[in-house]
Amino acid sequence: TGETAPALQIPRYVRVNTLKTCMDDVVDFFKRQGYSYLGRAASMEELSSLSGKCFIQDSHLPDLLVFPPRTDFHENQLYTVGHIILQDKASCLPAFLLNPPLGSHVIDACAAPGNKTSHLAAILKNKGQIFAFDLDAKRLTTMSTMLMRAGATCYQLAHQDFLAADPGDPKYSNVKYILLDPSCSGSGMVSRLPGETRTPNSDRLQDLAGFQRKALAHALRFPALQHLVYSTCSLHQEENEDVVWAVLQQHSLVFRLVKVLPSWPHRGLPIFPGAECCLRASPAETLTNGFFVAVLEKQPAGNDRTS
Ligand code: SAM
Repeated sequence: TGETAPALQIPRYVRVNTLKTCMDDVVDFFKRQGYSYLGRAASMEELSSLSGKCFIQDSHLPDLLVFPPRTDFHENQLYTVGHIILQDKASCLPAFLLNPPLGSHVIDACAAPGNKTSHLAAILKNKGQIFAFDLDAKRLTTMSTMLMRAGATCYQLAHQDFLAADPGDPKYSNVKYILLDPSCSGSGMVSRLPGETRTPNSDRLQDLAGFQRKALAHALRFPALQHLVYSTCSLHQEENEDVVWAVLQQHSLVFRLVKVLPSWPHRGLPIFPGAECCLRASPAETLTNGFFVAVLEKQPAGNDRTS
């Protein structure tokens, strides 16, 4: 099926880091390197037909450029100075959809190695505060280097279990936005190696889903929270729709799912009313890694709808 399409067929996505440069300058740079610029894509189909030395602006995400599969920019000067971030389109969706306004206080609950944190900092133009948590010291070290290279400054890193962060702590009292991208099976990441699979066994899946439910329920306890994005790079319903539905049922008077990107072709599996509000991504349908995104928002007072 399309879910097992080799990584080599997915376009190379390049996020323009607006903390350090702008779209026009990056486009000019690549034109000077001999690439032809095709303008903004009108549809996803245009991304699948890219070849040779051509590139195009993404049809959904304005800060994203798209190059033919197998283009490698790891040695490119713009990458080494932090002007571009090599980030799959699906993994750009969470920060783009959370879209915190300048000055916001934001929690990035499971943040390392920090691509989504740096994207949030770019959206905030470094004006605001990101509280970024991770349990893994090594990944946090990588993250510090990456954020410095990206020119992000509006963050505090905490080597801490997000589940132990106290929602009543006054320092989080203005947190209206949370991005929750917890550990997952990674089953949506297309293989770089022929035959490699990332199918977890059922015990592992249950453990992951248990953590994901706890983390989502914990995030919803932050008192000022208005908007939350939950994302995984998993294809498994147990880590995606099941998690959102289990937690939402307990909070349906307070939070609801938001229908985002109506033109996005691949939606949440229809296992509960409103699941189509969620987004799925896959090589075959969205030319990206496999991914899942749900956007939750606080209900207006007195409203008791679930979706
Ligand atoms: N959001 C990251 C990015 O875009 O670069 C990727 C996050 S990765 C999917 C999940 C992260 O969650 C891992 O770095 C892992 O160490 C961290 N993690 C796992 N359990 C955690 C916990 N209880 N509290 C905080 N971080 C945790």
